[in-house]
Amino acid sequence: KINYSGKKIVVIGAGRSGIALASYFYERGATVAISDLRERKQLAGLDSLSTLPIRFDLGGHDLELFAQADLIAVSPGVSLTCEPLRRASSCAIPLLGEIEIASREIRVPIIGVTGTNGKSTTTSLIGEIMAAWGKKVFVGGNLGTPLVEACAVAIDGVVVELSSFQLETIDQFHPSIALLLNLSSDHLDRYPDLQSYYRAKLQVFRNMTAADFVVLNADDAEVCRLTADLPATKVWFSAKGRMVDGMVRLGDRLVWNWSGADIQLPLSSLQLSGEHNIENAMAAMIPALLQGCPAELAWNAVCSFGGLKHRMQRVRQLDGVDWYNDSKGTNVGSVMKSLAGFSSAVTLIAGGKDKGGDYTLLRPQLEQKVSCLILIGEAAQKMAAALSGCCEIRIVSDLQAAVQQAFVITKPGGTVLLSPACSSFDMFASFQARGDEFERLVQQLSPARETL
Ligand code: ADP
Repeated sequence: KINYSGKKIVVIGAGRSGIALASYFYERGATVAISDLRERKQLAGLDSLSTLPIRFDLGGHDLELFAQADLIAVSPGVSLTCEPLRRASSCAIPLLGEIEIASREIRVPIIGVTGTNGKSTTTSLIGEIMAAWGKKVFVGGNLGTPLVEACAVAIDGVVVELSSFQLETIDQFHPSIALLLNLSSDHLDRYPDLQSYYRAKLQVFRNMTAADFVVLNADDAEVCRLTADLPATKVWFSAKGRMVDGMVRLGDRLVWNWSGADIQLPLSSLQLSGEHNIENAMAAMIPALLQGCPAELAWNAVCSFGGLKHRMQRVRQLDGVDWYNDSKGTNVGSVMKSLAGFSSAVTLIAGGKDKGGDYTLLRPQLEQKVSCLILIGEAAQKMAAALSGCCEIRIVSDLQAAVQQAFVITKPGGTVLLSPACSSFDMFASFQARGDEFERLVQQLSPARETL
């Protein structure tokens, strides 16, 4: 354990990773305060800290407390441009995030997974492969369990999902394998422009050397352009059949084209559906193959994985209509991928908190596949304006009304898809809460024949 005794540490943000950080530093001897703009009653999980001598600074930030800190631990939900952090950085107080802090104590190899979409699925797939291979691997980060919790367990390795926000506050973090799955527009409510968002993502590579591996999507022009000068050893994947050094999809099989290997994997065994999941599966196989995991064993683990909740999950079939929960479709790029799996007659429920995405990119698919777009939340008007004329558009007050409308108008053979292209925070605590509510509402619907 690193010794922080005598250090004054302020944790900003009292969400899941902030709370984990506060107890982490307390256990290592620091004097700890935790600060959040939100009031105590808006915060879940603080009770776990209440028996510890930790100072709570809630409902605002005490600037004096920040000014006296030796170190400020920044939660991913907090922008570095907020007042206390701007002041602290002008006084040269170190600002570090949980990934940096945790990784300073982690002595096992780290696999880091980032990109705009597919991070959680790919991280989970790597975790499944490693477990099947008999490795004791910590799987967490942005996905769920905070990385500092990896410091408390005996493990052979770490697989960590990394968001752009988490990568803003790294310094010496050094994965031995890093994956960049794709890049498209997201989080423009927090970044001034797309390049700043991409720059945050690319931070993952900052300490990597030729001895390390980066796993990159050869079909993504931005990924190719922005990684051209990296010193780390590049291993590519291409779902579009580009003959790269790495993993290539050729028709109904994947070919591992690396160091003379002759490995072929049948795509027909994959349970996950959607083209994007082929990319995720390819990316997830690469770290295992690089580390010498038997290909068949790894592929069996990938193929047994049924997917994560709230990502293109079929909720039920009712009166010949399929209902899908894709609440994690929180940006334009992910909705495009989700719609790609359908051919026609989709009733799409979208909207929520706007993240500054370009909704007009959805126009071609809406024209071809969507019969009605039902919009909810703060972004509804903006989306309706960007998408007018593509299909019928209705704006309704909330998710319940959206489900009701979709129920009434979707004909047998059609599909209802919740894939919001927005975050959930205008109406829900999280994408999980939004997806759970959607599933509950859908389960409550009675078949039309019974009600007639
Ligand atoms: P993340 O953790 O990056 O948000 P998830 O694995 O949770 O990604 O998937 C979220 C949504 O993103 C999915 O429901 C799907 O619509 C879309 N998606 C998943 N993988 C990809 C991919 N490789 N490329 C583009 N979109 C994807």
